[in-house]
Amino acid sequence: MSGKMVAVVCVGCTGVRACAEACPSGALVDRDGGGVNLLADKCTGCQKCVAACALGAVTFDSVTNKPIICKHCGVCPRFCPHECLEMEES
Ligand code: SF4
Ligand code: SF4
Repeated sequence: MSGKMVAVVCVGCTGVRACAEACPSGALVDRDGGGVNLLADKCTGCQKCVAACALGAVTFDSVTNKPIICKHCGVCPRFCPHECLEMEES
C-alpha cells in the first residue's frame, strides 16, 4: 500500500492576491514579481489569509501565531529528490 503526497505551493499570484485582499490589517503586501510579503508586526493571527487562498497555499504556525508565507526563495526545488518542484520566471 502506498500513500500519496502532494506539494501545495504558492504560485505567486500577480494582480489580485486573494490572501492579501482578505487580510484586514494590511499585513500582506504585494511582492514584486508575484505573491506577497508578510509584515509580521501588523499580523493579528486572524487566519483569514489561510481561508482566502484557493490553492490552500497558506498554512498557519500556531506557535508563532502567524501564517507561513512562501518567499519564493527557490530552496525547495533544490532539495526535492524527485524533481517535483521547479522555479519559473513569471
Ligand atoms: S493571519 Fe495575519 S496575515 Fe493572515 S489575514 Fe490575519 S492578520 Fe492578515
Ligand atoms: S498564497 Fe495563495 S492567494 Fe496568496 S499569492 Fe500565493 S497562491 Fe496567491
